[in-house]
Formats: sequence, C-alpha cells, structure tokens
Amino acid sequence: MRNDQLEAHLEFFDELGVEGVRRDAEWRDRASRQKTTAETVAPVPTSAETNDPVPSQPAAVFASPAEALVAIRQDLGECTRCKLHGLGRRQIVFGVGDPAADLMFVGEGPGADEDIQGEPFVGRAGQLLTKIIEAIGLRREDVYIANVIKCRPPGNRNPEPDEVEQCEPFLFRQIDAIKPKVIVALGKFAAQSLLRTTDPITRLRGREYKYRDAILIPTYHPAYLLRTPSAKRDVWEDMKRVREILQGN
Ligand code: URA
Repeated sequence: MRNDQLEAHLEFFDELGVEGVRRDAEWRDRASRQKTTAETVAPVPTSAETNDPVPSQPAAVFASPAEALVAIRQDLGECTRCKLHGLGRRQIVFGVGDPAADLMFVGEGPGADEDIQGEPFVGRAGQLLTKIIEAIGLRREDVYIANVIKCRPPGNRNPEPDEVEQCEPFLFRQIDAIKPKVIVALGKFAAQSLLRTTDPITRLRGREYKYRDAILIPTYHPAYLLRTPSAKRDVWEDMKRVREILQGN
C-alpha cells in the first residue's frame, strides 16, 4: 500500500471513529478458510426481531451456492418482467461476490455507473462501501453485494412498487442460495423494502431483525454518508456489531 493510500485509509478510520485496528490473525484469515457444515448460524440476540414477510421457499437442490446463483441468473434471463427494461437500462446488475458469503449487503438499485459496468456499488458510494467492508477486516470479494432491484430506474428515481414486486423474488432466491449469516440493508429503501415497513431508517437502525435464516442489520446508505459524513460513526457501530455476529458473539 502506498503512503497516500495508507493516509486515506487512516483518515477514513478516523472519520469512522475507529480507535484501533484488529490484529487478530484468526479473523483476518477467515476469508481463506472454507465454510464447513460445523459452522453454525449466529445465535439470535435477544434484541432480534422477527420481521420476515416472505418465508423461504423449498429450494431446488444444487451442488453449491455458486450453481444455485447461476440457475437464478438463467431464470432471470434478459428480464422484461417490469417496465424498467424499456426505460433505458443498459444491463441487468445481478450481484457480485462470494456465493457462500457469510455477509451480504443489499442496496436499493443500480445507478449510472452500475448500469454501465454491470456490477453493484462501483460508483462513489460503492467505493465508500468497499472501505466500510475493509474496515471490519474483510475484502469486497469476501462478501456478496446485491440490490432490491436489478435494473437502473431512469434518472435514479426510487424503484416503484410494481418493479420491486417483480424483482424481489430473485433477491430472495439469491439470499436463500447464499445463506448469509448477516444481511446489511443499506439505506431506507432496502431496509423498508426487506422488512415491509414504513418506519424511518433512523428508527430501524440500531436494531437487529431475524430475516429468513439470517440476522438483518439496517444501516445508512453509503450515498447518504457521502452527504452526511457525521453519520459514519453510526455505521461504524453497526459494522462492529456485524463483525461480532460473524465471530459468533
Ligand atoms: N446505490 C445502490 O443502492 N446500489 C448500487 O448498486 C449503487 C448505488
């Protein structure tokens, strides 16, 4: 890492309110370890709330999460299920990362950069998300990143209910294939949409929800953090909790 990169990294940690860096070798090496069947799902903390409106479907049996994701992508095809396919989307932005990730991030929907590159969270907000992931000792490729909807809404408007209705079954299938221990819902739209609530993100964050077989942690969207850097401290608190759950605490 170059000096200027190191400086930027430390500045970000400082902004996040990180007071020290973890040197726990076991945690740092965890990404290279294979997931074993002996690994158990993180215990549900007493504060976790069940708010899972769509129960898991009995899934077709695949040899691996990666194979299941390929099948889901095939089923999606060159999707024309909602009007977004005719409103200027360049490509479907399916999701990216480790198909067997313990940690999954769910955002709202692709923006302009994602629409061009075909990958979620690659613009400015995405670069901040990558730093947030690295702040808990993981790499972007250790997690899985997806959105509630897979096509860019025109002018970056919010996704509309009919678009969400058509698209979210594919997200649910992705979640059921990956079986993450923790899902981080990025921002108001993802949190409200997954939890089927209209509660504001300020009320949703700071709590944990039982969601499918995972624990869902709502936090602020990285685009919001770009506009409101003071909220980074809250996100850091949320991410520390994510790290604790992943470590089985
Ligand atoms: N914002 C999102 O919610 N998702 C992306 O993929 C990019 C920006």
